[in-house]
Amino acid sequence: MSAQEELFHAFLIKYAEIGIKGKNRYLFEDALIRQIRFALKGAEGDFFVRKEMGRIYVEAKSGFDYDEVVERLSRVFGISGICPMMQFECKDFEGIRARVVEYAGKVYPEGNFSFKVQTKRADKKFPMDSNEINAALGEALLEAYPTIRVNVHEPDVFFYVEVRERVNLYSKIIPGPGGMPVGTSGKAMLLLSGGIDSPVAGYMTAKRGVKVDAVYFHAPPYTSERAKQKVVDLAALVSRYGGPMELHVINFTDIQLYIYDQCPHEELTIIMRRYMMRIAEAIAEETGALALVTGESIGQVASQTLPSLACTGEVCHMPVIRPVIGFDKQEIVDIALKINTFETSIQPFEDCCTIFVAKHPVIKPNRKVIRRSEEKLAEKIDEMVKKAIETREVISISP
Ligand code: ATP
Ligand code: MG
Repeated sequence: MSAQEELFHAFLIKYAEIGIKGKNRYLFEDALIRQIRFALKGAEGDFFVRKEMGRIYVEAKSGFDYDEVVERLSRVFGISGICPMMQFECKDFEGIRARVVEYAGKVYPEGNFSFKVQTKRADKKFPMDSNEINAALGEALLEAYPTIRVNVHEPDVFFYVEVRERVNLYSKIIPGPGGMPVGTSGKAMLLLSGGIDSPVAGYMTAKRGVKVDAVYFHAPPYTSERAKQKVVDLAALVSRYGGPMELHVINFTDIQLYIYDQCPHEELTIIMRRYMMRIAEAIAEETGALALVTGESIGQVASQTLPSLACTGEVCHMPVIRPVIGFDKQEIVDIALKINTFETSIQPFEDCCTIFVAKHPVIKPNRKVIRRSEEKLAEKIDEMVKKAIETREVISISP
């Protein structure tokens, strides 16, 4: 057991409180607790996650791995700070004093820093008020460690002491990921390809509290099982942040071949993308999702010029969220590296969009022209879309 596990048995979870007053606060806190429990599932140790007077605590009930817990908590959206905490039963000042001195010695053994004690006394039966506790603890610390000094304006270290049913003592605030707890903002359907952009788009959507399910368009035998497995792997990486998700795998081959046979080849990509949007929207509607999410960024490739986006976007009624719309590739890559999807995304498997791709795809599609081309599909396309949706494979994803 490392020193940290010996000292800290609990974590105080801080969350931004703006905009979560009244009834929303409950929803926010309950969703946050649910996501914390989910994030800790499978971690070494037993944990008790509880809410008490506007606070959320994670308490270890057995041995645990400090670094693992911090790492997992730092993926839970809605958390603004993670405070490893010493928690103890104590009803007299002597007991508090001894623990604070012990804590300071163990956590800051180098002993050269300025500090301030900040006490909150929630237990009004405690015989000293918070100012008295601050002063007495400050004095005790100075006495125990002659090389440290008080600075009430800009201290290096704040010792936070909260006298409640038990005493909470902490000084470190590890930044959380921010955002909103997943489950507080409805559900969206992500078009997840094997590329770099769409997993990042899924992550960014989940960060705002949206539960994300995904749809992948698979074109066997032109795209391999390994290409599909790569998307499953990416979904699992996104679900480390977004929680469990369903991945709908659509067999897109017949539709692609039909478009290839019937329509001008330079319009293939754009028409295919329009069918992806239509199918994704149908599944979204069926599963209660309220928006579609894509990894499109303006101008990145021919199918993502503004006229192309307008043309693919016009076929659906739901809002289409494009979280990386204004990002350069490098900015997207930076996030992909941070959330650990990059390595998987760059595995070189074929993508269904690249297979039938024309040498000179249209970059300024005229919507009227495209609509007319699609009329050539009238005979069979509705039936094919229906079949693709009905025969989809649904894979339950968790990290
Ligand atoms: P990504 O890196 O996300 O694959 P990309 O730069 O390769 O993006 P495109 O291939 O033009 O861009 O795809 C644009 C968006 O369309 C993707 O971000 C994704 O949301 C969706 N998409 C493309 N191909 C598929 C697919 N096979 N299955 C599901 N969604 C797809
Ligand atoms: Mg792609």
